[in-house]
Amino acid sequence: MVIVRRLSGLMGALAASLAFMAGASAAASEIIAVRFGVHDSHTRIVVETRTEMDFRAFASGEVTPRLVVDIPGARWNVTGLADGQGQGHGLAGRFRFEPAAQSPRLVFELTESVRVRETFSLPPADGGHRIVIDIEPAPAALMTASSGFDSVDQTMTQFLAERVQVAYVPPRCESPRIVIDPGHGGRDPGAPGRFGSVSESHLALAAGLALRDILVARGRYEVIMTRDRDVFLELDERIQVARRAEADIFISLHADAAPNSNAGPRGATVYTLSDSGTNRARTRARQDGEWLQTSAARSAQVNDLLLEMSLQEKRNQSLIFAGSILENATDVTPLFRREPLERGFWVLLDSQIPAVLFEMGFMTNPDDSRNLNTPAYRQRLMTAVADSIDEYFAVCGNAGPLRTAAAGSTGGGPATR
Ligand SMILES: [Zn+2]
Repeated sequence: MVIVRRLSGLMGALAASLAFMAGASAAASEIIAVRFGVHDSHTRIVVETRTEMDFRAFASGEVTPRLVVDIPGARWNVTGLADGQGQGHGLAGRFRFEPAAQSPRLVFELTESVRVRETFSLPPADGGHRIVIDIEPAPAALMTASSGFDSVDQTMTQFLAERVQVAYVPPRCESPRIVIDPGHGGRDPGAPGRFGSVSESHLALAAGLALRDILVARGRYEVIMTRDRDVFLELDERIQVARRAEADIFISLHADAAPNSNAGPRGATVYTLSDSGTNRARTRARQDGEWLQTSAARSAQVNDLLLEMSLQEKRNQSLIFAGSILENATDVTPLFRREPLERGFWVLLDSQIPAVLFEMGFMTNPDDSRNLNTPAYRQRLMTAVADSIDEYFAVCGNAGPLRTAAAGSTGGGPATR
């Protein structure tokens, strides 16, 4: 039983003639249609392009399964889906086009974990050139990356072997390194104090020091502060502290402020890296060579794939940590959002270290503001964060499905990084 739905085939044909009138050169790299075929065993995704284009597709995401199709140079011109978003079928849920300069891509949310079964290209039949990606359900531990770049096939074995080591290394068990980043500081006070509270930078520092003391007292962690006094620190320096420390986890502490509000929203929010932030993190990793440094012997394409895996794994691990913070914090504070939110905050942009930004509450809310200004309250809130760090590192070594898979593939035994 095959159901093929043409989301926009006819409209694509219309777009083709319009684009032709607009000028062939600009239209050359356009995506003109996205279609889905739902089969018993798999879902077929067909991306129609004006000309033949390189692409690569990889499925990933232990928490939020996604399929990413990088199509270098692609532009979006699907009539009827002008905003670059649409609804898929079968295993593919909503999708969106992300026109990032270096790596335009289609991102499909998936109904479950999949692996890429096959990818290939087809010449035009009655439409454009076709990129075909078949995905099938797969346990998260078996998720496999696949590529549409022909030349990568040679290095795929090497890539998969390295991927196991790079992407699925469990957090270290021995003295995990926690980097605490109190937001703002010095000439940057952050949100101003309200309702008798000190400014955000002071609250963040007080909370950070409390968290440090709690973690040190537990005797299990190495704790590094990006700042432990009232000094100004550039955002990138905060990332550099984490990199130099070879941090296992990074947590930035802030307090929110809602515009024009004296009561309004309240509660804590946990942020992890967004898709657009991931694009910036990718660009950043390539530009400053942080990623390539240790891998000069690898081909550029393998490097790129490893970087993708690292970014994805960073996001997965960040989400696990973020979820744990929300679970524990809810005993102490109302939550502004019950799920982690995604943003492109600068301090989250490292390509490897799992990172969250914790907005502890709203300074524009009298209850939040007074609570955060109270040492006993901060102690309770930071104890909840410390508990979530304990939970995160409880699965170090060889626990969990992904970690079992990684340990098995590398010959077993506790892994370190
Ligand atoms: Zn802030």
